[in-house]
Amino acid sequence: MSEVNITPLLFNCQSKVVDQYVVLDKKVLNVVLMPDERYAPICSRCRTICKKVHSYTDRDIRDLNVFEYRTNIVCCYRKVRCPKCGITVEDIGLTEPGVRITKRLAEYIVILCHFMAITDVARHLGLDWKTVKEVHKKYLLYKFSNENFGKPRVLVVDEIAIHKGHKYLTVIIDWDTKKVLWMGKDRRVDSIKRFYNLLSDEQKKGIEAIAMDMWKPFIKATLDCLPNACIVFDQFHILNTFGKIIDKIRVAEYMAASKEDKEIIKGSRFLLLKNSENLQDEEKSKLNKILAINKNITTTLILKDLLKKLWSHRHTDKAKEFLEYWCQLAIDSGIKYLKSFVKMLKKHAHGILSHCKYPIHTSIIEGFNNKIKVIKRKAYGFNDIEYFILVVKEAFFSN
Ligand SMILES: [Zn+2]
Repeated sequence: MSEVNITPLLFNCQSKVVDQYVVLDKKVLNVVLMPDERYAPICSRCRTICKKVHSYTDRDIRDLNVFEYRTNIVCCYRKVRCPKCGITVEDIGLTEPGVRITKRLAEYIVILCHFMAITDVARHLGLDWKTVKEVHKKYLLYKFSNENFGKPRVLVVDEIAIHKGHKYLTVIIDWDTKKVLWMGKDRRVDSIKRFYNLLSDEQKKGIEAIAMDMWKPFIKATLDCLPNACIVFDQFHILNTFGKIIDKIRVAEYMAASKEDKEIIKGSRFLLLKNSENLQDEEKSKLNKILAINKNITTTLILKDLLKKLWSHRHTDKAKEFLEYWCQLAIDSGIKYLKSFVKMLKKHAHGILSHCKYPIHTSIIEGFNNKIKVIKRKAYGFNDIEYFILVVKEAFFSN
């Protein structure tokens, strides 16, 4: 093995190979590097050539594997007195400052991370997963450090849940290019404003419409920063809110029902939320039994199907007329939960009717959730939200 000359493989480096040996049972190739005194040391911080050597020190650096042997570089290098930085270490060209793996190994890790889970990359290379994560994170930070948002015309703002039910991230997408422009660590007003403030005045002026749900911080931040953009509330979220109303009515009706009727209503939660066209025969017959005994549930389901028609209107005046008609029907039903829903609809009417001008929605983000599940499996250690955001961005940037 010692007859194989590996010096050319380290040609970029300002050091010389003084020894190389294999530890067979450990499957390790050790390469010993010493400073090449023909070169004056270069400060690793400011790249000034330093004349004064302070001391000599060494450390182990991992390089790409050679065959099935892990390559360990025992690297002796100089600490220098830099006229600008004080005592620092020399840059021998092998690694980034403070990193214990070579640049080429770092590049290889980045390639592998594209296809493999970081834990698998770590196992494959015999490294700690935290090292792999840091290398990958550093690369992604660099990649996204000079983001150019382009000239977005229509935006989509929504949240994604990362731990079921608690932690939410805000995602902002360019409707036309489907690219993730930005992700925030929470869904507060300040966070969203931070994104808007990254936009130039020209970019802000160019934004015509934004699809979102009725989450107050989204609305407030948008009104404050982009007062001329048209807010469009997402159809799916509104119908979802109505689904919660259906649920409340179901519970209230169940509580008030006789013992026999309770038996009929029991277990109908998902049945009532389902689209009528998706019902199986058995479900249809159960639903018919409920409708036969309960007027309020019947009325609510009719109103649910009717409400969906609101989004088939393309003219604002017609849609407005329809919305008013629907609200009146709901009020006339006398069901108290419908009253609060009508109040909410009226309060948000402007953003609901604006779908006529901009038929946009946030479902594009709903579709991300499956992909995000895969990312969660692939990338380990998501307590680091910053890293998670970077990985998600990368996944959707390369679409
Ligand atoms: Zn320096």
